[in-house]
Amino acid sequence: MTENSNNEYELVIIGGGPAGLTAGLYTSRARISSLLIERGLLGGLITETEMVENYPGFPEGISGFELGQLMHQQAVKYGLKTITAEATGIELREGQKVVHTTEGDFITKAVIIASGSERLKLGIPGEEKFTGKGVSYCATCDAIFFREKPVAVVGGSDAAITEALHLAKFAAKVTVIHRRDQLRASRVLQERASSEPKIQFLWDTVVESVEGGDLVKRVRLRQVKTGKKSTLDVAGVFISIGFKPNTDYLKGVLSLDAAGFITTNARMETEIPGLFAAGDIRSNSIRQAIAAAGDGAVAAISAQEFLAE
Ligand SMILES: Cc1cc2nc3c(=O)[nH]c(=O)nc-3n(C[C@H](O)[C@H](O)[C@H](O)COP(=O)(O)OP(=O)(O)OC[C@H]3O[C@@H](n4cnc5c(N)ncnc54)[C@H](O)[C@@H]3O)c2cc1C
Repeated sequence: MTENSNNEYELVIIGGGPAGLTAGLYTSRARISSLLIERGLLGGLITETEMVENYPGFPEGISGFELGQLMHQQAVKYGLKTITAEATGIELREGQKVVHTTEGDFITKAVIIASGSERLKLGIPGEEKFTGKGVSYCATCDAIFFREKPVAVVGGSDAAITEALHLAKFAAKVTVIHRRDQLRASRVLQERASSEPKIQFLWDTVVESVEGGDLVKRVRLRQVKTGKKSTLDVAGVFISIGFKPNTDYLKGVLSLDAAGFITTNARMETEIPGLFAAGDIRSNSIRQAIAAAGDGAVAAISAQEFLAE
C-alpha cells in the first residue's frame, strides 16, 4: 500500500453507504491506499431503516443501523481511511484528479463516486417551516415523538409503506396519502399494511399545504380526480416521495441523465477514465443495499485494473 503524508491517495471514494464501504473493503484488501469521504453517518441511507430483511446472510433480518456499522467495521479492518467531510467538486488534471472537500483537497488517480441520493421534498407551503416541528423525512428517526398521535405518510413506494408500518407501532392512526389509486410498494408490504388496523389509505389525493401553530396541526388535501378539497388533522407528516441523486457537486465534470443520475457501463466506468460510479447514484439502479454493495465491488475491481495500467 502506498502510504502518504500530503493528502495523496491512489483512490478516493465519495460516500460511505453500502456502495462506498464495499468498494473500500475491496480496494483496501487489494492494498490500494484508499480514502473514503463521508459527510454524515458511515453506513449511508440503510442506517435509517429499522429492519432489513432482504440482505443475504441475515435470515432473521438485521437492523439497518447495525448493517451499516458492520460494513464500516469490515472495511476499516483492512486499512480503509475515512474522513468526515463533504465533497464539493472534482477537478480533472493531467494524469490525476483533485477532490475538493470541506476539509481540504485530496489528490488521487481514481475516484469512485458513491454519494447516493437524498429524499425529495414536496415543495408545498408549510413544509420547510414545520420541518422538525411535525414534518419529517425519516420515520425510524422520529416515530417515537408521535406516540398515540395521528400522523400522515405521503407516498406509495416500498420506503413509504415501510415508514407507515413503523409509525403504526407508535401513532394512534396512520393515514397514507397517495396521489395514485394504487401503491408501487411490493406485494408483501402492501399485505402487511392492509392488515394493520391503524393504517388507512387516501387514494388519488395530494397534500397542498401543511398548517399549524408552533407544531403541525393539519394538512390541506386535494382529491386529484374530483378536485374536492379537505383537511386532515395530524400531528406529524412523514414525506416519502422519492429521491434525488447527490450529484450537484459533479455538474460540469460528468454528463448526468435528465434526473441527475450518472450513467456507467457494466464495469461502473463513467465517460471519464478513472472516474467510476456505484450504487443508488447510477441511472437505473434498483436502489437496494445488495445492488449498491455489488456495484461497489465491481467499481473497486475496475479501479484496481485502471490503477495497474
Ligand atoms: C426507509 C428506507 C428503507 C430501506 N430499506 C431497504 C431494505 O430493506 N433493503 C435494501 O436493500 N435497501 C433498502 N433501502 C435502500 C438502501 O438504503 C439503498 O439502496 C442503499 O443505502 C444505497 O447505497 P449507496 O451506497 O449507493 O448510497 P447511500 O446509502 O445513500 O450512501 C451515500 C452516502 O454518501 C454520502 N454523501 C452524499 N453526498 C456526499 C458528498 N458530497 N460528500 C460526502 N459524502 C456524501 C451520504 O451522506 C451517504 O452516507 C432503504 C432505504 C430507505 C430510505
